[in-house]
Order: sequence, then structure tokens, then C-alpha cells
Amino acid sequence: MKRICVYCGSSYGKLPAYTEAAKALGKVLTDHGMGLVYGGASVGIMGVVADAVLENGGEVVGVIPQAIADKEIAHTGLTALKVVPNMHERKAMMAEYSDGFIALPGGLGTMEELFEVWTWAQLGFHNKPCGLLNVAGYYDHLNAFISHAVDQEYVKAAHQETLLVSTEPNDLIEQMANYKPAPGSKWIGRDDL
Ligand code: AMP
Repeated sequence: MKRICVYCGSSYGKLPAYTEAAKALGKVLTDHGMGLVYGGASVGIMGVVADAVLENGGEVVGVIPQAIADKEIAHTGLTALKVVPNMHERKAMMAEYSDGFIALPGGLGTMEELFEVWTWAQLGFHNKPCGLLNVAGYYDHLNAFISHAVDQEYVKAAHQETLLVSTEPNDLIEQMANYKPAPGSKWIGRDDL
């Protein structure tokens, strides 16, 4: 994996642990020789993870829509900043540039971005690993809900397992390096389409 896309909050969140985790992830990516692809903002833990990669000598590509470049305060010190016309192009470009995806704690934007690439994995649109860094139990309830969705037969257990979860960045990267896509997409083999 050459480049990892990190989705995370444009806020800092309540706990210092979130900022610490963003810094730690940035260092771990750089230690593994991996570049960062992210949303291009300087604010929140988005800015923290970007700064951590840059401070450790790594490469950072930011992708930001024109309309929110000012609002989110685009990071001016990146290796490359791509300004795109809209959110759809932002997410498509981030996905194309990356060999894997990690969500740190974040809000609605973070969750939407993670779920989009994870559903693309479920559909077999890509074979790249999706990881969740569960810092300070932030995603415990989400993981419990996904288990509930499996129990209620809306999500297959094999697809739940394609979201790699860890509390520790090095372990998450290792899981992602060993990732094997779920056999067949959600739709392959169905004859009722
Ligand atoms: P948040 O997790 O809400 O702080 O947002 C993190 C990132 O997601 C920011 O770069 C936002 O621009 C982006 N974002 C916010 N809303 C959306 C959305 N509806 N779709 C995709 N990305 C979004």
C-alpha cells in the first residue's frame, strides 16, 4: 500500500485522545513509507493527521471542493492540494489515489465517507481494505449496531468482517496489509436481478 486515505473529523472532538491518535496514525503511515490522502483541510484532526505526516517527512495529498475550501480552511503546506468542483469528485479522487481507507473519529462527513467506500467494497467495485481506528471506544456503538444489522440479516457476516477494526494504528495497518476481499460481491451469483 503506497497511499492511505484517512477520513476524520473537521473538529477535534471532546477528548485529547483523538488528537493523539491522529498524530500517532500519521507517524505510523510515514514509518511504513505510506503517503496520506485526505480532505485537504487544516482544521480539526484532519489537520492534525496531515501535519503529523508532513512533520515526519511523508507526502500528503489533499482533495477539497472549491465551495468548502475557504470554510474548512484549506491546508497550504501540503505536497499537493487538488481543488475539485464538488463533493462527488472529491470522494472519487480520494478513492482513486488511495490503496486503502482508514476512518479515525469524526462526524457525519467521516461516517458518510467511510460507509461509501465500504459499500463499494461490498459491491466488489474495489478490493482495497477499509479500516476503522476505534479510539477511546468512539465507535463501540457503531460496531454494536453493525452486529445488530448482521443479526437482523441486513448485512452479511462476511461483509461485516471486511471492515477491519483496531484500537492501534500499527495493528490496523498490519490487518490492512493482510486483507483478503470477501469472496464475491453482494450481487455476484444472484439470479433475481
Ligand atoms: P466531519 O466528520 O463531519 O467533521 O467531516 C469530515 C469531512 O467530511 C470534511 O472534510 C467534510 O467536508 C466532509 N463531509 C462533510 N459532509 C459530507 C458529505 N455529506 N459527504 C461527504 N463528505 C462530507
